[in-house]
Amino acid sequence: MNEYDSAKIADILAASCGLVTTETPSKADLIILNTCSVRAKASEKVFSELGRLRFLKKKNPNLVLAVGGCVSMQEQTNIFRRAPYVDIVFGPQTLHRLPKMYEKACNKEKRIIDITTPKIEKFDYFPTPDVKGAIAHVSIMEGCNKFCSYCIVPYTRGIEMSRPSIDILAEIKTLTDQGVKEIQLLGQNVNAYRDPNKKYTFSNLIHEIAKIKTIERINFTTSHPAEFGDDLITAFASEPKLTNYIHLPIQSGSNRILKLMRRGYTCEEYQEIIDKLRKIRPNIGVSTDIIVGFPTETEEDFADTMEIVQTINFDAAFSFIYSPRPNTPAAKMEDNIPLAQKKQRLLDLQNQLAIQSRQYNKTMVGTIQKVLVVGRDKKNHNQYSGRTENNHIVHFTAPKDLLGEIVEVKIVDAMSNSLRGELL
Ligand code: SAH
Ligand code: SF4
Repeated sequence: MNEYDSAKIADILAASCGLVTTETPSKADLIILNTCSVRAKASEKVFSELGRLRFLKKKNPNLVLAVGGCVSMQEQTNIFRRAPYVDIVFGPQTLHRLPKMYEKACNKEKRIIDITTPKIEKFDYFPTPDVKGAIAHVSIMEGCNKFCSYCIVPYTRGIEMSRPSIDILAEIKTLTDQGVKEIQLLGQNVNAYRDPNKKYTFSNLIHEIAKIKTIERINFTTSHPAEFGDDLITAFASEPKLTNYIHLPIQSGSNRILKLMRRGYTCEEYQEIIDKLRKIRPNIGVSTDIIVGFPTETEEDFADTMEIVQTINFDAAFSFIYSPRPNTPAAKMEDNIPLAQKKQRLLDLQNQLAIQSRQYNKTMVGTIQKVLVVGRDKKNHNQYSGRTENNHIVHFTAPKDLLGEIVEVKIVDAMSNSLRGELL
């Protein structure tokens, strides 16, 4: 989501202020930290990074320093207190107002702040996207109403707001004109999508996008198990353009912990969704998010998580140590698990996930995969990389430029994080 927002920030500043992006901070007129506050570590990194940027500002007094994203929403004017040399603080829902804020900062106005959450208006201000490559992200909804007990997102990104389907489809059409073949629909909970004009449900929207001939692949992230209805499940049967993987965060394998987390589903209900999906797509790739060390998590609860990880046989996962976030209900619970134990649980979990990932990759050896070519080695131009329909990376050589094309590749070798193939 932040990558998407960063790309939009760059587009909007290019269109309205003529700014271009640079890889060299010392050459910049404006430096923006687009921040994440989902865990404490990401949040704290912002202040250490600001400390480093302060020196650039000393060298170049005209440099404008801005902090955007969720840390702005959480820390608000505290940012100016902790880092008085910051000029602009803005939030995820006001990034379209950045050109005006930048103008004010250039006129030496100090401490400019806009962390309001206006109704989903920012999309109306985004210029036509200028995409590079065959894959494009399209945000379809923002914010979250779920209020899981550990999570800061509903407080920083605001409540759920969906974009009108007409706007989404129009954006996708402009992307196809630029050669995009794969659309990745984005949202905190994409399956909570509610068309403001009541034209399409989330699954209907997928079917509508699939009608665009030049779109060859569609996927979405992140979806929530509590709203994974049968219409979305059957879309995997009726819609061949939906790629062969699903990212569905489970968070824990213990029903007791899931309840404390306020996730709104049980492990059995989660398992049922996966069973139904696998009935339709037997080799669908399933990835997830898991938190270890949630307050009161016992060895037994953790053993349940390890068990479900193996039963479901996830082929990839993002896993984290629980991080107390300010003003969330879980932060008021006693964080009673020693850090060493949390670290050990994370290590055990990640070792198990690595084994499963390797095993899954091995099952792909010998198969023929449709691969969307997304990368070319900078030095060795014959080396390409692409994504399979189940979202795995394949490296292979090819005699001619295949970037942006979908080609058939036979998988010949499996490493832990990627595959090697031969172009057919
Ligand atoms: N809306 C998505 C997830 C968005 S946040 C969902 O509910 O599935 C991305 C991931 O960060 C979450 O799935 C969770 O695993 C992790 N996360 C969120 N808050 C956290 C916290 N306080 N500590 C540790 N991990 C957290
Ligand atoms: Fe956070 Fe829960 Fe919303 Fe996901 S569903 S963003 S974890 S509150």
